[in-house]
Amino acid sequence: MPYVLGAITPKTTLNDDPGRIRSDALFKATFGATSAAVQAQLVTVDFVGQPVRFHARAAAALAKVSARLEKLIATTPSLATYTTGELGGTFAWRPIANTNRLSAHSYGIAIDIVVAKSNYWEWETPFAWKNQIPQAIVDAFEAEGFAWGGRWYHYDTMHFEYRPELFAAACRP
Ligand SMILES: [Zn+2]
Repeated sequence: MPYVLGAITPKTTLNDDPGRIRSDALFKATFGATSAAVQAQLVTVDFVGQPVRFHARAAAALAKVSARLEKLIATTPSLATYTTGELGGTFAWRPIANTNRLSAHSYGIAIDIVVAKSNYWEWETPFAWKNQIPQAIVDAFEAEGFAWGGRWYHYDTMHFEYRPELFAAACRP
């Protein structure tokens, strides 16, 4: 399922969720197989002025996103409301809601930005793709190898996770 960059568009094709399907075996081998093993590899990253815990293998990429966002906010201060309020969080060893599959948050490679500015498919009745996150913020994350939950039919617009393999030429249309 190719991860397509560019202009944000509503996702209306059933189960068009590029990157939402993950290989737990691969992720456990890469980032840690247990909560304790992942926690032992977490480091602190300054995310637009707030300290967050992130996996050491993804921390440099998140720091680069933060630098991009700080530049954007310097020229467009209104963008700060998406990244400098109460964040949804980073590391949490937990299954995806109503499933037995581990969330990317379990591996310390995902960040949820400001929840108050976000939309999540399970919150909406009737189901309809919705988004408030601006293009510039999505672009800043994607430029550093983070996939965005707003590119999913099962949308989660606060959610960004470090998935550099999705951006490799072999995986892109
Ligand atoms: Zn998330």
